[in-house]
Amino acid sequence: MKIATIGAGYVGLVTGVCFADLGHEVICVDVMEDKVEKINEGISPIYERDLDYMLKKNVGKRLIATTDLEYAVKNSEISFICVGTPSRDDGRINLDYIREASRDVGKSLRDLGYHLVVVKSSVVPGTTENLIIPEIEKYSGKNAGNDFGICVNPEFLREGLAAEDTLNPDRIIIGEFDKKSGDILFNLYKKNFNCPILRTNLRTAEMIKYASNNFLATKISFINEISNICQKLDIDVYEVARGMGLDHRIGPHFLNAGVGFGGSCLPKDLKAMIKLSHDLGYEPKLLNSVLEINEKQKLKVIEIAKSIMDLNKKTVTILGLAFKPGTDDIRESPAITIVDKLLKENCKIKAYDPKAMENFEKINKKIYYANSVDDALKDSDLCIILTEWDEFRDIYDKILRMKNPRVIDGRRTLDGKKAMKLGIEYFSIY
Ligand code: NAD
Repeated sequence: MKIATIGAGYVGLVTGVCFADLGHEVICVDVMEDKVEKINEGISPIYERDLDYMLKKNVGKRLIATTDLEYAVKNSEISFICVGTPSRDDGRINLDYIREASRDVGKSLRDLGYHLVVVKSSVVPGTTENLIIPEIEKYSGKNAGNDFGICVNPEFLREGLAAEDTLNPDRIIIGEFDKKSGDILFNLYKKNFNCPILRTNLRTAEMIKYASNNFLATKISFINEISNICQKLDIDVYEVARGMGLDHRIGPHFLNAGVGFGGSCLPKDLKAMIKLSHDLGYEPKLLNSVLEINEKQKLKVIEIAKSIMDLNKKTVTILGLAFKPGTDDIRESPAITIVDKLLKENCKIKAYDPKAMENFEKINKKIYYANSVDDALKDSDLCIILTEWDEFRDIYDKILRMKNPRVIDGRRTLDGKKAMKLGIEYFSIY
């Protein structure tokens, strides 16, 4: 099929590249010219394993990028809206990009025959009916259902494994305005994917996305809470999690205690659901606690650091700036809060991350960006590990070369017992 993806970020670019790889003709649209240029040169503007290779394979053949949204919509049968929906200061999602994209899609549909619009961005329940459809109708002069189709198709990819997840999803959710819209999307997916496809109405599909992410966030805060209790009893929470995870009703995933969740989705989707609940006159006590536990978890690193040394004028190494390994994404990364707090404590920070330093430097120019783990640890008083990159798993020798080999491990990246045997002062927050 001929497909347009509007917004060529983590979701839109990966979706576009994967559809192209499956043999579809794809036009990726973005407002940022430099992103579009890079994509057309076969260079991914984001770091994702396999993406550069897949992009190079398809660009110029089945995939092109453009800033011309109208051209993309007019030359395709389906448009996937994949623009960002970041948090506003009050926790609600910022709908400016969605509104603009809907308006531009609407304008492009004016002289066009039937076209399917698919909302892939995460939007709180009701957004497609209350904002996206009215905007498209207003600017196209057409009616949803009769003149254009509309579906909500939430994205569940994990950054770091985005292409793999897109090509091998656990399930596909199709929220449909009407049967015709749903049938088109169902047929596209049915031909290419062998997984359960659930068809719902629009707002149910929107809610499935939020409920899923809120549940994953809950699992992480749950294990962090258990971890805080375990610490008082001298119990290893990772062993507890292993024991719990063997129960198929629980599963082993998202039970790693540590500095808490970050990223562009879990915190944002949690805050948006809390706000939506408030707007609906409901107090979501569980979701409030999930968020509160997560915020406190990050600060535990600072508490431990303060308990072991006077931080004033000390040099602290931060290993890991990305919110998780495998990505250059630093949105809502615990490292942001922790670095800020350490700077307030008058520390000098030396940071190293294999992929995320360029993005971090855009928001923080006050720290030194090292070119290797060794460089980051040189003359440092304390090492804090915040992202469990494989590159950080076997760095005992490097830590031992510190003047005082001392680590706070925020993600169980090292083997604590081994570290201590080797003479490293090892602290963890779980
Ligand atoms: P992103 O910020 O990486 O990408 C969004 C892109 O849209 C940017 O490149 C931006 O320049 C572009 N854009 C903004 N307005 C535009 C417009 N009017 N026309 C064309 N392009 C425009 O965001 P993302 O991480 O890809 O997330 C996109 C959506 O998908 C969000 O709603 C997010 O919550 C959701 N989502 C993200 C993930 C993830 O892991 N990143 C996973 C599932 C769902």
